[in-house]
Amino acid sequence: MKEIRMVDLVTQYEGIQEEVDKSVLDVIRSSAYINGPEVKSFQAELEDYLGVKHVIPCANGTDALQIAMMGLGLKPGDEVITATFTFVATAEVIALLQLTPVLVDVDPDTFLIDPAAIEAAITPKTKAIVPVHLFGQVANMDEIQRIAKAHDLFVIEDNAQAIGASFTNKDGVSAKAGTIGHVGCTSFFPSKNLGCMGDGGAIFTNDDDLASKMRMIVNHGMVRQYYHDHIGVNSRLDSIQAAVLRIKLRKLDVYNSARNAAAAAYDTAFANCEDLETPARAENSTHVFHQYTLKVKNGKRDELRAYLGEKGIPSMIYYPVPLHMQEAYKDERYGVGHFPITESLVDEVLSLPMHTELDKEQLDFITSSVLEYINR
Ligand SMILES: *Cc1c(COP(=O)(O)O)cnc(C)c1O
Repeated sequence: MKEIRMVDLVTQYEGIQEEVDKSVLDVIRSSAYINGPEVKSFQAELEDYLGVKHVIPCANGTDALQIAMMGLGLKPGDEVITATFTFVATAEVIALLQLTPVLVDVDPDTFLIDPAAIEAAITPKTKAIVPVHLFGQVANMDEIQRIAKAHDLFVIEDNAQAIGASFTNKDGVSAKAGTIGHVGCTSFFPSKNLGCMGDGGAIFTNDDDLASKMRMIVNHGMVRQYYHDHIGVNSRLDSIQAAVLRIKLRKLDVYNSARNAAAAAYDTAFANCEDLETPARAENSTHVFHQYTLKVKNGKRDELRAYLGEKGIPSMIYYPVPLHMQEAYKDERYGVGHFPITESLVDEVLSLPMHTELDKEQLDFITSSVLEYINR
């Protein structure tokens, strides 16, 4: 059996090696390393795929979030609501810009930000909501958009984990994750669903004015060469990464289907298992399974993980410590016990290997090993 990896980028590369090698070499020979034609083509192709007016490539997903907040003109002291159960980047940029992160709890079944908790956290200082489309599903954008409209708030979608997923709204209209709020942000970190071979990210919006401002911000706030209208940053996607992303974008739907097939195999194997809760599907969202995350009940999570490790099966805990319990983000507003759902999730969640290359032999070995431990 092939070695089981949490994410198998080696095997994935083997399937596209010829195309990738040729495109990367073409960029090297062209010397158009920054903002070359590959970046422009990728931008246009991603706009087309997402059905969004503007894609602004940048250096990584964390920058994408920061640039979105700068573009929207958020000011120190403004409150920004996000989930406590997420990767740190979401809250990090809020804090870096001297905005005030306001954390809220998540839904116990889908792990997604809870709209009722968002509404309860709104104050006169609230300026924006950052829903995180965690693990590959879209948060309840009907409710989030309704709350944002009622309170005149910006919605910045953290779509680093759900590129390619769609949400069907209450009127029956479907849209790709990241294109529903004012701005969407994504990451092309290698292990993401659309990953490059280094760092990369992008911002999406349908708002022309916001797009032109963010295009300036990613490039030192420059309106034309050496004229700077805004305080900006230096955040670019390089041409080699864009060349790789063009190839992988054409495969994204196939890759996301492969993830769904692996998830279906896990679901079937673990159905009717008292100690395991398979991932719930969020309403009105498709799932692109950035992670396949089980809830392991009855205190068995850590021993199961150790057992799998002994058999050469990697697994991960996303995330072991919620933001409100992180050293850097501790805050007198939220003590231990403040977010009971997230605090119980961090003791139960276990993410199994999930990628585009899992074969039947590997899936059978993983599922039978999990059941061996659970049923013994
Ligand atoms: C990966 C990730 C980011 C940050 O992306 P980088 O490209 O690593 O900066 C932000 N938010 C979430 C939810 C992520 O998973």
